[in-house]
Amino acid sequence: MKIIDKVFGTHSEREIKRIMPLVEKIEGLRPQMQALSDEELRNKTAEFKKRLAEGATLDDLLPEAYAAVREATARVLKTEHYRVQLIGGIIMTHGDDNGLVLPPRAAPIQAVVIPVAAHKPGVLDAAAALRDRLKTAGVRSKMDDSDNSPGWKFAEYEMKGVPLRVEIGPKDMEKGQCVVARRDTGEKVTVPLAELEETVKKLLDEVHDNMYAQALQNREDNTFDIASPEEAKAIAEGKGGFLRSKWCGSLECELAMKERAGVSSRCMPLKQSGTEGVCPVCGKPCKTDIYWGVAY
Ligand SMILES: [Zn+2]
Repeated sequence: MKIIDKVFGTHSEREIKRIMPLVEKIEGLRPQMQALSDEELRNKTAEFKKRLAEGATLDDLLPEAYAAVREATARVLKTEHYRVQLIGGIIMTHGDDNGLVLPPRAAPIQAVVIPVAAHKPGVLDAAAALRDRLKTAGVRSKMDDSDNSPGWKFAEYEMKGVPLRVEIGPKDMEKGQCVVARRDTGEKVTVPLAELEETVKKLLDEVHDNMYAQALQNREDNTFDIASPEEAKAIAEGKGGFLRSKWCGSLECELAMKERAGVSSRCMPLKQSGTEGVCPVCGKPCKTDIYWGVAY
């Protein structure tokens, strides 16, 4: 076993030990959640907020809050997900060689303000003012006034995937401007201070649109129509990607795909094409679109 496997193996085991009791708690709350009416389930939000205001911590509320969200998801979407699947999905879809790239609408911090030459008079106050203005404008933002160098901070927030970085230093202050850098493209723009909120919000939308378009393009480029399990196997073992076909709905055909192609059903898209086709295994005419892929 390679040393790296050992390290990650041990680390993962530790994480799992820490998380499992929580998962069990969430699972255990399921009957209680299932017994609630839709309205009672909706009212849970208000109840959680009240308990939080009365001194409960987020950790206290986590299992029940998560159980409530899970139940609501099951009722509305008829499907369930685990947080780890969402996190994994985001990293796989959007990460790059420099670390995470978080979509602005999901990012806990949308903009980080970094003072440059923070020891110079007025810089920290100017940076704090930018953070406050962004917060007031509804942008989730923070200022990093730690002792780390600006370069260190740039790299740190890049790795953490914060969508926008706002820099301000003495020269910017003289000119009444700041610099905003995008995590997705690395592009930097100079922004007059008077236009801060407007520009940051516009850029967050642009980052969202760009990331969405890229993810969609990537999915399209890696989805292949297959007509037989053998064709599916060749693609799965070659370039890889998602495989798309029709499916007759029988379990035997699903299992045959697994045996003959090494792929399992991933999802039946909510938006079905409605076109006629044939099942790649039994050849029966059918309409259901299905995606296949290798399970890791
Ligand atoms: Zn079939």
